Amino acid sequence: MPSSSSSSSLPIRLHGIVGHPLGHTLSPLVHNWGFRHYGIPGVYLAWPVEPGRLADFVTAVRVLGIAGVSVTIPHKTAIMPFLDVITDRSRAVGAVNTLFWRDGQLVGDNTDVAGFVRPLVERGFSPASALVLGCGGAARAAVAGLRELAVPDVRVSNRTPERAEGLRRDFGVEFVPWERRWEFGGGLVVNATPLGMLGQNEGLSPMPREALGPSVVAFDLVYNPYRTQFVRDAAAAGAQVIVGLEMFFWQAVEQFRLWTGRTLPRDEVWELLRTELEG
Ligand code: NAP
Repeated sequence: MPSSSSSSSLPIRLHGIVGHPLGHTLSPLVHNWGFRHYGIPGVYLAWPVEPGRLADFVTAVRVLGIAGVSVTIPHKTAIMPFLDVITDRSRAVGAVNTLFWRDGQLVGDNTDVAGFVRPLVERGFSPASALVLGCGGAARAAVAGLRELAVPDVRVSNRTPERAEGLRRDFGVEFVPWERRWEFGGGLVVNATPLGMLGQNEGLSPMPREALGPSVVAFDLVYNPYRTQFVRDAAAAGAQVIVGLEMFFWQAVEQFRLWTGRTLPRDEVWELLRTELEG
């Protein structure tokens, strides 16, 4: 359904994140910093919206001409039918994490894939094999990214095997039973579970220490705390590590570019985020 609204008529362009519940998020910090840095008349807010009000929310985006939205749990898939255009990346992942306007149409995109791919490309790292732990939205973005990078051998492991069926079917990846994940020999190991996250999962790791060594590159998608148990274990075992904040950072850079055409300055924004997490 084409929209009659666009963001251009507003003196201050509204942006924000929609989710439910909305816990602590780093997104307002990044985007509001970017608006100030470039002197762009924009603001980024947090909008907790219950699932039953999602259609109303998208109507508000259209009526108010809201310029950009980050979409998070539990709306990433549910929002798709309400949009005018779904990008190929979003379709591949089956989820949208960004709304922006293009030629008067409300577009749903997924910048998590770009956020996942960029740290690997920056390191010139092209793994022959990868094991993704978890099968939720973050895992789907990771597998889509690994497919974009043409990684030949991609496997997925999940605590609940039947929940991995969709991912296995959609991307043609091999399933590894959760209790056999530690047998993975070497290559990229991606944590796409909440194990290690601040709160009740802090201090937990998705991979036994004995399974980590110099032949592993450990990429944790959990970004709070900055160095998770998985990252600590992997570094201690001599593995290369990629912290989850890198993915968060690059997906935010891509969102900001979609909304403003500007590139967030890397060093300053990285420092801002790291300081926020490490205190
Ligand atoms: P999700 O859709 O809820 O999926 C969670 C996955 O983790 C499921 O596969 C679930 O397995 C598994 N899991 C949950 N608790 C577990 C446990 N105790 N032991 C083993 N497996 C467990 O979540 P998501 O959106 O994919 O997010 C996953 C993580 O990625 C979160 O920590 C999130 O913060 C992070 N993330 C980071 C970025 C970034 O920019 N760095 C972006 C997106 C997400 P079952 O099917 O068995 O329940």
